[in-house]
Amino acid sequence: MTQPQTHAFQAEVKELLGLMIHSLYSHKEIFLRELISNASDALDKLRFEALTRSELLAEDSQLRIRLELDGERRRLRVVDNGIGMSRDEVIENLGVIARSGTRKFLEALRQRGENSPELIGQFGVGFYSSFMVASRVTVTTRRADLARGVRWSSAGDGEYTIEELDGLPRGTSIELELRSLESAEGEGAAQDAQDFAEASVLRELVRKYSDFVEWPIQMAASHFEGDGALKRSTAPDGVEVVTLNSQRPLWLRPKDEIKPEEYAQFYKHLTHEWSDPLETVHFKVEGSSEYTALLFIPGERPFDLFEPGRDRARVNLYVRRVFVMADCEQLLPTWLRFVRGVVDSSDLPLNVSREILQHNRAMAQIQKRLVKKTLDALASLLANRRPDYQRFWEAFGAVLKEGAVMDAEQRELLAGLMLAPSTRGEGAVTLDEYIARMPAGQDKLYVLRCADVEAGRRSPHVEALHARGAEALLFVDPIDEWLLDTLREYKGKSIVALERSELDDASEAAKFERERQERELRTVLEQLESDLGEHVQRVRVSARLVDSPAVLVDDAGSVGPHMERLMRQSGRTPPKRKRVLELNAQHPLVERLKVLGQNSEREQLKEWSELLLGQALLAEGSPLPDPSRFSKLVSSLMLAAAK
Ligand code: ADP
Repeated sequence: MTQPQTHAFQAEVKELLGLMIHSLYSHKEIFLRELISNASDALDKLRFEALTRSELLAEDSQLRIRLELDGERRRLRVVDNGIGMSRDEVIENLGVIARSGTRKFLEALRQRGENSPELIGQFGVGFYSSFMVASRVTVTTRRADLARGVRWSSAGDGEYTIEELDGLPRGTSIELELRSLESAEGEGAAQDAQDFAEASVLRELVRKYSDFVEWPIQMAASHFEGDGALKRSTAPDGVEVVTLNSQRPLWLRPKDEIKPEEYAQFYKHLTHEWSDPLETVHFKVEGSSEYTALLFIPGERPFDLFEPGRDRARVNLYVRRVFVMADCEQLLPTWLRFVRGVVDSSDLPLNVSREILQHNRAMAQIQKRLVKKTLDALASLLANRRPDYQRFWEAFGAVLKEGAVMDAEQRELLAGLMLAPSTRGEGAVTLDEYIARMPAGQDKLYVLRCADVEAGRRSPHVEALHARGAEALLFVDPIDEWLLDTLREYKGKSIVALERSELDDASEAAKFERERQERELRTVLEQLESDLGEHVQRVRVSARLVDSPAVLVDDAGSVGPHMERLMRQSGRTPPKRKRVLELNAQHPLVERLKVLGQNSEREQLKEWSELLLGQALLAEGSPLPDPSRFSKLVSSLMLAAAK
């Protein structure tokens, strides 16, 4: 035994705990679901390890979760005889060190206002939630393969003590010193505050949130004297207990028997999320390979979706009801990493490892089927529940786009699931909707990569399209740089990125006219090319401008302005590129350039060309090569105008 040592929580954890304790009044009861779910995971892990090391089970082979209540002293213990934790695991897991992304999460929380339970739920509060109902939490645990155990205790005020102990049973006990009802109400609790020191309240919560947990959740029968409906049994430790849950794994029950609430509760148990899933996909496959899959599409983006290392699909693998592996990456590709759920296989061996799965042909078939079912579900969401699909798209669209980049086979299908805002306004549209409303004569899909939707709508790149009654779809996600390099056509129509390519003329006559203007402006264009040679490789007459005098475009395949911004943001220097400056031959300024060129006012023409380039850069949101020179030129123009 060691002396208890006192340590401090990391600052972010302290803040998060403070927020939870003081701002969550209406969701307190979920603490029990969270603790039971952790206990059930710990039992799963033990059973799995014991497949190869049966001695781990020796001392106590009946795995269970026990709720031990001392109502008078207001003590509740959630006890499991699962895998347990070592000293290091206790410190690492029990929320004294901030997980990656905690700071970002706290910022988001502050922006949205503190009382945002859904947001806190996205963080997966888990164990922390005990502090919503307890003034002190004491964890006593011994890892199955270690002789010594650990006691960790904290009042949630920023400090914890830790000491090592001998003689502990295997597994984990979480003891809560429950706050009194009065003190909970004093903090603004709901009127109908539940008393978690009541056995009947706990029983109801188990039924509501954790009924399908595979392990028995027991309580001493003495709490339920006189209730004949409960089945009693004597546990190996001699205690007479009742089992509170039905223990039927939800995914093995027939689909038409399961209520939506039951799916939702299971989803919350599995993910530690607070909000309901957006869609549930539940199916059974029989034949050469037999399995049941229960998949969920969440309604909210988890805060760490784009964190490095968060690229594994989040589906757990079971073999004949036995938990085998969390987050099994062979089940779904990384671009479906937002899907949560379980797959229970009837024919994989129990001792499968990740290495074996990698080369397992049946597994590849399962993945294929899961992908198809998930994409079918998304397509039907898009067709039948547009507002929900919109929500899904905002949360996870960028991840699906990764699929369109990486998976050539699914590319067209995934492109069909995309939503993009249009330069026309009015909500986001699909590519099919875009095609359906193309004006007669348009045979290509026009898109524009831009910094944000507003900038895209105002961009000079789309002026002529609008004048022709056409529109462009706007792409603002970082992934779109790659997406539109790979996705070159959809349903036989080419996709044209406006900021890259030359826009076709509206008609033969327009083409003829543009070529005529090009000849007429030849001298000026050449003068500009030589004046701006450092920045642009060509100056030409544009087919796309109506109101603006000039616009910059890129050659297909070069690094675009959007990509440049991204590279700068991540601290890299983009390669220098030379671009194409397009002029609007109808614009009075360009008319004026012609005169300047003819009158051989070379110096002034040079200044004007710099100003035009500067304007075009500003319009697309890019920095100026020499801002002070630009503002000097603007001042001298203003002075000249004032004379
Ligand atoms: P989450 O369950 O979302 O990972 P928690 O904060 O609830 O987050 O728990 C953090 C970690 O602590 C768990 O992932 C697990 O490794 C460990 N843990 C929590 N409770 C137990 C328990 N009863 N037995 C063993 N390990 C546990």
